[in-house]
Amino acid sequence: MKITILGSGTSTGVPVIGCPCAVCKSLDIRNKRTRASIAVQKGSDTLLIDTSPEMRLQVLAAGIDEISAVLYTHTHADHTQGFDDLRGFYFRSRRAVDCFLMEEYHAEFRERFRYAFEDTGYQGATPQVNLKAMPLNRFTVGDFDIDPVRLPHGHVNTCGFRFENFAYATDFKRFPADVIERWRGQIHTMVASGIHFGTHKAHSVIPETIELFRQLGVKRGIISHLAHDVDYAKHNAEMPPGVELAYDGMTIDLGATVS
Ligand SMILES: [Zn+2]
Ligand SMILES: [Zn+2]
Ligand SMILES: [Zn+2]
Repeated sequence: MKITILGSGTSTGVPVIGCPCAVCKSLDIRNKRTRASIAVQKGSDTLLIDTSPEMRLQVLAAGIDEISAVLYTHTHADHTQGFDDLRGFYFRSRRAVDCFLMEEYHAEFRERFRYAFEDTGYQGATPQVNLKAMPLNRFTVGDFDIDPVRLPHGHVNTCGFRFENFAYATDFKRFPADVIERWRGQIHTMVASGIHFGTHKAHSVIPETIELFRQLGVKRGIISHLAHDVDYAKHNAEMPPGVELAYDGMTIDLGATVS
């Protein structure tokens, strides 16, 4: 299994438009953050988690030209607005793309991208997708065995995923006790959101995410969905053992990992 961090930024991306701060002005490429997304690859299957506003640029940079499915975590703009660029995969494969999303958000999603789901009179090519209900128990897509969990994120919910000994969770405030119980001791490597060092009503922040890794027994924890007050070089050096910060284009090879 190979993981690519397609985007490691919070909803604004970094640099933030017009911001004169040191991180936004930094020349360190690891401080250039597109919106949060990852690709998970195994054999000939590739799963895209979310379609960020920069999805097209992200998959071009990662050399991804075919996908098996999209798993949506939730419907916030920073995780969905690249949806239209799924057309690129259809033009190549002529196969509608399976998009898994928690059923409670289907009506909102269909409304947001109405032109893809009903005849609006639009004359151009629209995304060809199969919107599918995210199972809330283990399911398979191609070679992947996926264990989804539902996590609170402010007034909405988000979906986290475990693929064997790797897990990805973004945009959650906390992990409910039953989810910690379900995943504990099973995860070698985990990518999870952390935003910054301050506080946030709807998000786990970096110290909380570090504590979550500890509770789950994660051996390698990688913190993503980062804001512009996180400087990669400075703050990555301050992370405790077994924890690091994500950056765009980072790859993680889990081929030889033993859980
Ligand atoms: Zn987000
Ligand atoms: Zn800034
Ligand atoms: Zn969100």
